[in-house]
Amino acid sequence: MEGLLNNWRRTNYAKNITPKLTGEEIIIMGWVHEIRDLGGIIFILVRDTTGMIQITAPSKKVDPKILEELRKFRKESVVAIKGTVQESNKAPNNVEIIPQEINILSLANQPLPMDPTEKVKAEIDTRLDSRFLDLRKSNISAIFKIKSQMLHTVRDFFYKNGFLEISTPKLVASATEGGTELFPITYFEKEAFLGQSPQLYKQIMMSSGVDKVFEIGQIFRAEEHDTLRHLNEAISIDAEASFMDGNDMMKVLNNMIEQVIIDINEYCKEELELLDHKLPIPDKPFPKITYDEAVDIINSKGIEMEWGEDLSRAAEKALGNTMDDFYFLTEWPSHVKPFYVMPCAHDPTKSHAFDLMYKNLELSSGATRVHQYNILVEQIKERDLNPDAFNSYLKAFEYGMPPHAGWGVGADRLTMVLTGVNNIRETVLFPRDRHRLTP
Ligand code: ATP
Ligand code: MG
Repeated sequence: MEGLLNNWRRTNYAKNITPKLTGEEIIIMGWVHEIRDLGGIIFILVRDTTGMIQITAPSKKVDPKILEELRKFRKESVVAIKGTVQESNKAPNNVEIIPQEINILSLANQPLPMDPTEKVKAEIDTRLDSRFLDLRKSNISAIFKIKSQMLHTVRDFFYKNGFLEISTPKLVASATEGGTELFPITYFEKEAFLGQSPQLYKQIMMSSGVDKVFEIGQIFRAEEHDTLRHLNEAISIDAEASFMDGNDMMKVLNNMIEQVIIDINEYCKEELELLDHKLPIPDKPFPKITYDEAVDIINSKGIEMEWGEDLSRAAEKALGNTMDDFYFLTEWPSHVKPFYVMPCAHDPTKSHAFDLMYKNLELSSGATRVHQYNILVEQIKERDLNPDAFNSYLKAFEYGMPPHAGWGVGADRLTMVLTGVNNIRETVLFPRDRHRLTP
């Protein structure tokens, strides 16, 4: 059977092949990036996860059988090549391979649905339809290397700070904050929903005695958005901690974002370069402005906004233009925030809720939570929700619930900031939006 690995194994990645290895026999494996057949000599560029290496086959030096095999190559096919390393000042990285044995592992059909060598630019929809090909571009895979590093740092950060990693159900019986933005599903003989946030579960966990928890998981929102910053399935980084308030948790969030940026600058230099993106380490601490101050700024920029409204897109933009990169927006009006947010003792129309913004993009919402059963029931009723629907959540507040606070960060939105892309779809391998359910 053709195309088997058998006893072929890669000895080197493209990036590790240098003129120092001249004379050595090596095996490389990867995709055929470019073929140039000049008759008397064939040049092939092979690409693997680390970069490119040139295969040079002069007809005088190479067995005719090998030349015949090389002429079967098609762009983007997967090949393994055994050969000798040779220094060459004409090849990329001053090194090339003279082939001795060829193994075609998988031939790619032609024409390709899109060009992964970027010679022809493709629209985002074409790219997402053939995402596996799109990801073969180094500037596209760079986005996911940065996202992966971000998630790695985030996990590390939580573990170092004593947070327990938890996984809560994504099949839920009732809404977190209200009923309008949920995907209903059939759960045997009942109706259920896809979870829009782990909020209620991470709060229940505060009553379990474990103190600090975090979760990195999917959230589902049925909003009919068609924007560059909303998806119907997103990743949320959620944290909740007992015996802390919103200010304490803002510090935790600030420290986490700072660590992420430090690590990405350290471990993803090449990826930032590929994306032509600079990511300066932000000054600490992030500035804070109150909602009241924000309303004044927004109005002073000619965008009309009443006290008590949520920020419109125009308002977010006006504010983003006047603020530093990262900033906290604090003391939100109580009624625009969910029932589990703690009202201010001195003025209950205001709350201990905050958002973390990057320019005009909301990255996170958080708050000191209500931990008193009676206030919580009151606030549920004030929002025309039925406390009975929250029985299993409310129960956790009746038998010893510590004061607590927390936040949720959109991992995909954070990735937009880290990579400099302006469409959230770029930061998700297989995005789910109003019009896309495949691949
Ligand atoms: P927005 O006002 O921008 O729609 P939100 O206030 O509804 O966001 P929250 O419920 O506060 O969002 O969720 C916490 C975080 O999760 C947000 O700050 C954002 O980073 C992320 N997030 C929320 N909804 C989405 C979505 N539809 N797509 C991608 N990320 C989202
Ligand atoms: Mg929010």
